[in-house]
Amino acid sequence: MRVLVVEDEEKLAALIRQGLEQRGLAVDVADAGEEALWRAGSTAYDAIVLDVMLPGIDGFEVCRRLREDEVWTPILMLTARDAVEDRVEGLDGGADDYLTKPFAFPELEARLRALARRGDEPRPPVLESGGLRLDPAASSVERDGTPIELSRIEFAMLETFMRRPGRALTRVELLEHV
Ligand code: CA
Repeated sequence: MRVLVVEDEEKLAALIRQGLEQRGLAVDVADAGEEALWRAGSTAYDAIVLDVMLPGIDGFEVCRRLREDEVWTPILMLTARDAVEDRVEGLDGGADDYLTKPFAFPELEARLRALARRGDEPRPPVLESGGLRLDPAASSVERDGTPIELSRIEFAMLETFMRRPGRALTRVELLEHV
């Protein structure tokens, strides 16, 4: 399993690298957002550990740009404090999970392994299909730019279908997601 660690604090980056390597993971480190973008775009990582606070473009922006570029490697964001807004912004920007600093290594490793199992299936934060645009974070749906009012269940059903284009869903699958 190969992981990209994006962290500008040298000591912490070295510590994370060492900790993950001891657990048998291959680790690359990037110390800036730009470097993270090109590394993640050119190497097939199983997961990315992405610090929020970076010089230049921050972790949120790195995450958004990777998803815009259709890089779907699972991303775990590191947030410095237990700030709800940070976690929400990260998840809405296309991150898959987050961990608050300071964290325990076994938890970081367990979460990375769980994320890697999901693979790099496309999971865009905003879903678009045939003129329909569904934004789960804003709970909004538009058709050709015109807002559509949906009930909570209608919204959940539409989101479920749009996340699985071209697939027939069983009743059980639908119930799991709605
Ligand atoms: Ca940092």
